[in-house]
Amino acid sequence: MAGVSENRWRSIVLGTVNSLERRLVGALVLIAISIGALQVFSQYSAREVSNRSLDVQTAAEDMQHAQQLGELVGEFRIAGNARLSRLSTDDQGTLLTDIAIQIGEQLNALRLSGMPLYRIGPDMAAFDDLDRQVDAIMAVPREPARLEGVIQRNVMLADLASAIAMTAAERRDAAQAQLDRAVTDWQLTVSAAGAVTVVLVILILFDLLANILPALRRMHGMLRRLADGDLDFEVEKFRLRELEDLSRPLEIFRRNAQAVQNLALTDPSTGMPNRRAFLERTGARLADAAAKGGPRHLLMLVDVDRFKHVNDDFGHAAGDRVVKLIGERMTETLGPGALVARLGGDEFALCLPLDGEADGSAVASRLVAAIRPPFDLGTYAIAVTISVGTVEAAPADAVAIEELLHRADLALYAAKNGGRNRALGFAPELEEDRELDRALERDLARALLGGQLRMVYQPILPLHEADPEVEALIRWEHPELGDISPARFIPAAERSGLMVQLGNWIIERTLSDLTRWPGIALSINLSPLQLQQDGFVPFLLDRCRHHAISPRRVILEVTESLSIENNSRALLTLELLRNAGFRIALDDFGTGYSSLSMLKTFKFDRLKIDRSLIDDLASDSSAQAVFEAAVTMALRIGAQVVAEGISDEKLIAPVLAAGCTHLQGFHCSRPIEADAVAAHFKIREVAAGDPASGQVPGTLAA
Ligand code: C2E
Ligand code: CA
Ligand code: CA
Repeated sequence: MAGVSENRWRSIVLGTVNSLERRLVGALVLIAISIGALQVFSQYSAREVSNRSLDVQTAAEDMQHAQQLGELVGEFRIAGNARLSRLSTDDQGTLLTDIAIQIGEQLNALRLSGMPLYRIGPDMAAFDDLDRQVDAIMAVPREPARLEGVIQRNVMLADLASAIAMTAAERRDAAQAQLDRAVTDWQLTVSAAGAVTVVLVILILFDLLANILPALRRMHGMLRRLADGDLDFEVEKFRLRELEDLSRPLEIFRRNAQAVQNLALTDPSTGMPNRRAFLERTGARLADAAAKGGPRHLLMLVDVDRFKHVNDDFGHAAGDRVVKLIGERMTETLGPGALVARLGGDEFALCLPLDGEADGSAVASRLVAAIRPPFDLGTYAIAVTISVGTVEAAPADAVAIEELLHRADLALYAAKNGGRNRALGFAPELEEDRELDRALERDLARALLGGQLRMVYQPILPLHEADPEVEALIRWEHPELGDISPARFIPAAERSGLMVQLGNWIIERTLSDLTRWPGIALSINLSPLQLQQDGFVPFLLDRCRHHAISPRRVILEVTESLSIENNSRALLTLELLRNAGFRIALDDFGTGYSSLSMLKTFKFDRLKIDRSLIDDLASDSSAQAVFEAAVTMALRIGAQVVAEGISDEKLIAPVLAAGCTHLQGFHCSRPIEADAVAAHFKIREVAAGDPASGQVPGTLAA
């Protein structure tokens, strides 16, 4: 039972303490009570003081009566004595009687005011029947025997009078003391009640200042943060019920808003921050660094090289997993200070602080290297590479984030054009390069229709008994920009979606040209996009049939940068083409890193060893070792080997020694115009469109 009521009290007290409203009402009630108590106490004390001062007044009057009594008794004795010593006449009796009457009046007055005369003793009776004393005094001259009695009684009267005076004085002193005490009590009570009120007010003020106002201020602060869209905090719990009632829905609101924000700021398939999150957070980081003189930042745009093939070959689920794993590995490599966001598809944006002298390009190269080891997807592993464009943001430069990303994008673009699998930093010249590429992409369609494109043919020299050959190379004479290298505009065509159309035009043009050169074999460069084009094999066969050209005369060059090993569609196309009779050459062998594994995946008829492997042959012995190993390997798998870029006679001996089957290069022949081909090979040109293309052995011009 006691426990229950204790609990009730507890909950009442807690309920009051924890409620702002009850706390304020409680405080006001306490102040009212204390002011009321002050009133009651001071009223009570005031009445007490006024009573006591009345007592003092009465006591003072009594004092007066007692004094007058004393004086009257004195007069009475003097008058009596005068009579006794026979100095006076009989009239003395009247005087004595008068005084006696006055004494009686004073005594009555004292009695009436409550003086306890009875306490003075039984002798008080001496004041009764004073007329008899007067008679006795008056009679003494006649009856001297009464003298003794008269004198005794007079003395008694005098003693009594002084006793009464003393009592009156004592009573006055007592009343005065009581008055003094009442006044002190009054002062004490009033000061105590006042002090309690002041303490209460101070406590309430303190509570207001130390607890209530700060809590309100904190609540206000949180509301402001929420209003400003800052959701990265937890709404605090309040003891005050009213604030707690507000804080709970606020916290729910904050969580919901944060969930919505997270949804808007997260890439759903990987859970990584998305483009918006990257822009916001990087913007905040840069602004912070600018404001506080913080460190430089490195911004990187990352693109996974040929990621489309991962999706094509392994499916989109595997693609998403690889993207996620790449994101995780990048975070792992760069540490927790790096912000890694997925912009979409296979594109990432990264931002990290560069402390001290740290070198941004070294960080980016480390990142590129870190991605190369294969990603384990359980039953199989996938290896990818990345291209990275970087830009450094120094706080003092105050370059807008959009501009920084644009620069990183230019660098990324250049990294991809430069052969991928690398990191490149921004340089102002990249802007012009990009502009040029844009112009090329834009103008290419017009070039295709407007006859600005033509084909030239570079002879390939067979070293053993074999047909003479040419490689078809495209040329573009831009009306304003002049000759544009195919190494530049073929990628532009691939990017702008014109490659298939351009490829078809090249096939049509070269096959048509080939009909004029009986007995000559033709190499055509294929873009990876053509291999993935729907209906490419039937199209090519149809064009060959149309021009009455046997597929045996056509060699299709694919570049090894096409990751055929992972691209089942391209691989299937190559198989079909090979079965149809075309020969397949692997171009630019030695420039990519996947060369060796590609040789396992597909049986190439020919390898064309890249110029970069040949350039140093005459001077550098280790270059020779690498070159010889590549040729030996190609010959082992039964492929022909073309040495590209024979630009100097000096290169011929080592190439021959290594066992190459064909030579190609400016030293053998520069690319020549179509009209010059027949003359070059000293063959009789067949009229274009004439399908009679007999096997006339060509004469080699070395
Ligand atoms: P590629 O297929 O490796 O072609 C050989 C390139 O090396 C040609 O450059 C040729 O002119 C050049 N070359 C030949 N011998 C020498 C030499 O001794 N020294 C030097 N320095 N260079 C030599 P070109 O015509 O500028 O073509 C560049 C690249 O553009 C080609 O490399 C090929 O990848 C691409 N390309 C050219 N024409 C076509 C085409 O019709 N279709 C496709 N898809 N790509 C083409
Ligand atoms: Ca080629
Ligand atoms: Ca080549």
